[in-house]
Amino acid sequence: MCQQQHWYGYGERIEKIKRGPSIERGIDGHLLLQIFFSAYMDLQKIKHDDPYKGAIGAVSDFVNPLLNDAFTNNDGDETKRIVALHALVLGFLDYIKSDILKWQIIGVEKEFRIKLTDDIIYAFTIDLLVWDGFFKPIDWKFTYDFFSPEVLLLLPQVRKYIGALKHLDFPVDFGYYGILRYRSLKKNTPDDLYRLQKVEPTKSSINTYFGDTVKIAKQIAKLKAMSPEGWKDEIVRNSSITTCKMCDFRFLCGPELHGSDGVNIRNVHYKQSTYGYR
Ligand code: SF4
Repeated sequence: MCQQQHWYGYGERIEKIKRGPSIERGIDGHLLLQIFFSAYMDLQKIKHDDPYKGAIGAVSDFVNPLLNDAFTNNDGDETKRIVALHALVLGFLDYIKSDILKWQIIGVEKEFRIKLTDDIIYAFTIDLLVWDGFFKPIDWKFTYDFFSPEVLLLLPQVRKYIGALKHLDFPVDFGYYGILRYRSLKKNTPDDLYRLQKVEPTKSSINTYFGDTVKIAKQIAKLKAMSPEGWKDEIVRNSSITTCKMCDFRFLCGPELHGSDGVNIRNVHYKQSTYGYR
């Protein structure tokens, strides 16, 4: 991550008020999956006779009032967006239904904490942790295209989760990316849109990614202990076409680079973020 981007997101703790459609889709899609699996877990606990059906109902109960509002406000784009996302998520849940029925849900958006030193706690949140004879961490990805084998070899999240869970003595050797593809194709089959992609990482990749995570947590603790001015003095902008064109802070970063104090841009386009290091 670019150090300037890191400062905006985690030092200043700001985020864009209106996010791009792919970020909105990812956040809202995660929320629908969170609602489904939280309801599924609760219904499993009370031994409901059909937790899958009940949890699908919980998702609809959440979506329907939003849809009603969008429809009442004559907001055609928002109506279309909600309908498409709801259909995408329901299609995915149907695609992996046979897996879901075998899972015991251990945690949904569950936070784990590892004490790295007396002063440094590494906290991480897993989208879904299930057990079906094995513990399996699962990370959701809303993406335009499936990942190539080269990219899959490099994706860090599930490898990091496995390393961190091992550190907490969970017997876990593999996990999954639950991939939902939102690209509109002429003829979509479920196989074109969805994948439960198994990740069985090597010991070396787990050690590398978990080791990186520990190093980053220590660097962040060091930065947090500094004054804001001290932190800003350490920053090197990693500007490149690839990172900047996707960066939510580009509308602020460019003007500041050229001497603006960025106050008006901050007031109009950014707000205090709901995430960050605690
Ligand atoms: S616009 Fe580029 S240089 Fe600026 S914060 Fe984003 S990634 Fe970094």
